[in-house]
Amino acid sequence: MLRAIYPGSFDPVTYGHLDIIRRSAKLVDHLIVGVLNNNAKMPLFSAKERVKMLKDVTTALPNVEIALFDGLLVDFAKKMEARVIIRGLRAITDFEYELQMSQTNHKLGPELETIFLTTSIEYSYLSSTTVKEIAAFGGDVTQFVPDEVRRKLEVAFQTPPNHLS
Ligand code: ADP
Repeated sequence: MLRAIYPGSFDPVTYGHLDIIRRSAKLVDHLIVGVLNNNAKMPLFSAKERVKMLKDVTTALPNVEIALFDGLLVDFAKKMEARVIIRGLRAITDFEYELQMSQTNHKLGPELETIFLTTSIEYSYLSSTTVKEIAAFGGDVTQFVPDEVRRKLEVAFQTPPNHLS
C-alpha cells in the first residue's frame, strides 16, 4: 500500500494544486494533503479554513485525505506512514528550492522519496500569491480557483464601508 503526502500552504488551494492532487491520487493508494500550519508565513486563511476548502474541493476523490501538520515534514510523514512526498514543479524558479528541500528531507529521512509532478501547461503560471493579488483588487479569479474558494476570497477582501465620506 503506497501512501504519499502532498505538503504545502494551500493559501488558498488553486486549480494548479487540484491538478497535482488529482494526478497523484491516481498514482498512489492513499494521498494525504498536508496543510502546513505555519503562522510565520502570515497566511490569509487560517489553517482550519485552508483544510475546510481542500476538503470541500476533494470530496469526489475517495483516496484523498486532508490533514493539518506543523513541525518537520519527515516527522509528519513517519506519523502518517507515508514513504513518498509529492511536489509540483512549475518553472525553473521552483527547481532550486525544491531540490534543496527534497535532498534535505532525504537526509533527515533516508526512506523518504520525493516525486515531482510537472505542472499541466494551463496552470504553469498559477500561484496562490497571484490569485490573492487579483482578488485583493477585485479581479475575477473564476478561472484560477474553484467556486467555494472564490467566494471565500471575496469575503476575505470585502472592503468595509467607508464611513469617512
Ligand atoms: P509551499 O508554501 O510549500 O510552496 P504551496 O501551497 O504554494 O506551498 O504549494 C504546494 C505545492 O504545490 C508545491 O509543490 C508547489 O510547487 C505546487 N504548486 C503550486 N502551484 C502550482 C501549480 N499552479 N501547478 C502545479 N503545482 C503547483
